[in-house]
Amino acid sequence: MNRGNLLYEGKAKRVYQTDREDQVWVEYKDDATAFNGEKKAVIDRKGEWNNRISAVFFHYLKERGVANHFIRLLSSREQLVKHVSIIPLEVVVRNRAAGTLVKRLGLEAGQVFPQPVVEFYYKDDALGDPLINEDHIRLLNLATPERVEEMKQTALTVNQLLTELLEQHQITLVDFKLEFGVDASGQLLLADEISPDTCRFWDSRTGKVMDKDRFRRDLGDVEEAYQEIWNRLGGEAHV
Ligand code: UDP
Repeated sequence: MNRGNLLYEGKAKRVYQTDREDQVWVEYKDDATAFNGEKKAVIDRKGEWNNRISAVFFHYLKERGVANHFIRLLSSREQLVKHVSIIPLEVVVRNRAAGTLVKRLGLEAGQVFPQPVVEFYYKDDALGDPLINEDHIRLLNLATPERVEEMKQTALTVNQLLTELLEQHQITLVDFKLEFGVDASGQLLLADEISPDTCRFWDSRTGKVMDKDRFRRDLGDVEEAYQEIWNRLGGEAHV
């Protein structure tokens, strides 16, 4: 497999063409951004941990029947994935109160929900990725109601499966964000990344924050926390 032209460069990843129309080459960068790009830094080896952790999650989910874009790791910071057209929605699942929800609804941080909360955000930098509902999604023609339901059910399944896996490693899955794409045949595939950049992970015993909040809130030791997630998931055993 050869790396071709750069197709797209985002905040955290570069996507390249390959010899095959239906596959793309993804490179994870060390660049970190938060608050809609207002806060920026380079975190040494972040790209490597996110690439490896995301690969473990996608592989685990595929084995359990969740269709997704992941094919294989190419190197410590690169992976091969199926070429999809990304639906411009972020699907967020929450098990506990954290982040923007605490402010929006006046909740107590860390409060455990009786059942998971699912939200949709419209991926649009100029609008600041607003929270939207299913009627807005239909209005903007972003996805059919059936597709929205499929994404919601898949997100809840992912929540169950990842919660189970992470609990085994004393990690609490507080919340996370998913993105979906559609392949050339019209199949819905879970895509993008699942990593400490896109999830909130708390140490189940101590409550220690082990995700991007360490960067957002200037808690320090960001790289160490990401590496610790990788180590707990089995680290080198996956390579
Ligand atoms: N999230 C993300 N990308 C975004 C917004 C949120 O990956 O553009 C993730 C975030 O890391 C967290 C979850 O989605 O795990 C819920 O985030 P929230 O809405 O609380 O926003 P935040 O406070 O993270 O900006």
